[in-house]
Amino acid sequence: MKRSPVKLLVAVFVVVVSGVQVRGDEPPSAGRDVRQRLREAVEYLAAPDMEGRGPGTKGIDRAADWLAAGFREAGLDVGVAAGSPFQSFAMTLEAKLGPASENRAELVGPVAVDGSSKLVRLELGRDYTPLAAGGGGEFDLPLMFAGYGITAPKERYDDYSSVDPKGKAVVILRREPRQDDPASVFAGNQDSQYAALSRKIANASEHEVGGVVFVNDFVSVEKMKKAAAAHGVKEGAAGSDFDEDALMAFGRAGDGSDRRTMPVLHVRRSAIDPIVRESFKHSLEEVEKQIDDRFAPSSGPLAGWRIRGRIAIDRTETVGRNVIAVLPGKGPRASEVVVLGAHYDHLGNGGSNSLSPGAQAIHHGADDNASGTAMLMEAARALAKAGPASRTILFVAFSGEERGLLGSGHFTANPTVPLENIVAMVNLDMVGRLDKDKLIVHGTGTGSGLEQLVDRLLSSRSLKAAKEPGGFGPSDHASFYAKKIPVLHFFTGSHGDYHRPSDTADKINYDGMVRITELVVELVRSIAEAEQRPAYVEIASKQFARGGDRPYFGSIPDFGKPQKGYAISGVAKDSPAARGGLVAGDVIVRIGESAITGLDDFDSALRKHKGGDTVPVVVLRDGAEVKLDVTLAAPR
Ligand SMILES: [Zn+2]
Repeated sequence: MKRSPVKLLVAVFVVVVSGVQVRGDEPPSAGRDVRQRLREAVEYLAAPDMEGRGPGTKGIDRAADWLAAGFREAGLDVGVAAGSPFQSFAMTLEAKLGPASENRAELVGPVAVDGSSKLVRLELGRDYTPLAAGGGGEFDLPLMFAGYGITAPKERYDDYSSVDPKGKAVVILRREPRQDDPASVFAGNQDSQYAALSRKIANASEHEVGGVVFVNDFVSVEKMKKAAAAHGVKEGAAGSDFDEDALMAFGRAGDGSDRRTMPVLHVRRSAIDPIVRESFKHSLEEVEKQIDDRFAPSSGPLAGWRIRGRIAIDRTETVGRNVIAVLPGKGPRASEVVVLGAHYDHLGNGGSNSLSPGAQAIHHGADDNASGTAMLMEAARALAKAGPASRTILFVAFSGEERGLLGSGHFTANPTVPLENIVAMVNLDMVGRLDKDKLIVHGTGTGSGLEQLVDRLLSSRSLKAAKEPGGFGPSDHASFYAKKIPVLHFFTGSHGDYHRPSDTADKINYDGMVRITELVVELVRSIAEAEQRPAYVEIASKQFARGGDRPYFGSIPDFGKPQKGYAISGVAKDSPAARGGLVAGDVIVRIGESAITGLDDFDSALRKHKGGDTVPVVVLRDGAEVKLDVTLAAPR
């Protein structure tokens, strides 16, 4: 049995009122009730027993029930998702390493004349660790040394240039050649994009390797040795703070959102070094130094050696629930819809999206996004009380946002109203930290008249805004903008508590939330009553330039669609992708020489080309492979 959300609210209410009386910080205005309800709601949603509203927790279920009860109490129609307020979808929980007994790895040497071969058993946690960026299951793969695992055509460096890594487990050093040289072509002595683990994995995958075995680079080992010496530590024992060859954490290279099937492991140097010596007649350290000195790769097979074993990664499925309510419109425009949305999920106990890595603590998510959820509920209440507008208003509390806009992706793929009837989507994500009257509003250029409307509503409330015209961004409005729907996203800015356990309810600016709520209510009402619906405007997005120097392609990612390859939900008008013949629904599986299994590979593959290059692109369309030629444009 679930606890009644109504009873719980009463309990919270009493606490809040007594606290407020002591502090005497209530405004003596009509906003008082609104302020109190917003505060009760944020405190309820961000309370420790809501378990950080992590997917798969009882806390997030209670939050969903609370939302449904609140919408119902406001008098809204909560039966649009096949008679239920809940629109359910499957969602994979953050990956966890399976039990030690189900994980094993060993290095197997060349077969001798007597049929025997050397066997080096690796101990989980001491000699190796599987990484969540890879897949699980049995593996038995020939080993190959592939230097730093970098392919950088513009820098004229390619660890894969003279080897065939297909189907092999590539041993890859971390970081990049000449990493301490201020004159290095790889961003001097800073880490360049090629040092990123995800890029190395993507590049390996593009080369269709069978698996990836990371080893620490010697320069980093040396640095750790020096740090240990500076602290008077003679030897950095395995697992200690000064472990010079420390293994990465399971989630360090990403949590596997690219759904790779190949194994990705981190193995200690002491296990790999003897094997490198056998094939290269030099130690791992010497081979690295050679690569750095000559700035030339030194890749090759590790003769006869294999790595085999089994990786168990737990990727439990759970059900995510969007909570939907409707205020039906009245009159000839009632079939048109304004969507007001906010995500109510958060990070639970942390995980790979936490900015306090390793902290197994409740991430309360008061600002992210109990604030937006509370505001959604309050706005729904106010709009319901005002009665029907000309257009229908749809309220959606999304789940799965923190796992990659999954709830909004599911909604736009399975809309409860025809997408072409949605005139605009307004998203509330992190609206609890208003500072110096300044809001950030994304999407002001995505629909005709939106900027003027926002300006008018801001100025009448002495609020200011940093306006960003584009409609893509790391929150749910992006799912709607990808479907060519005008969007607005309200945001009060990032802060040091973002995605940390310290994002708590006591840090919320409730007076600020009252002001933004009033603005949002008037905004939604204005769009719902306007003579003309805003016309969609296509804005070239900064976000998808991803780093600036990537050639422009012009596909629109399909957010949250579980797919092999890289699925697109559309192409930008007159873009290289459009001219090359790509269409919505295509799944990109190959660009040039690169196999594509997800966004990381797509990004990495494009960076190997320049504007003006024509590259063959293979897409899956209705289950069949279609080959297209795309002429890339200059970065934008
Ligand atoms: Zn977040």
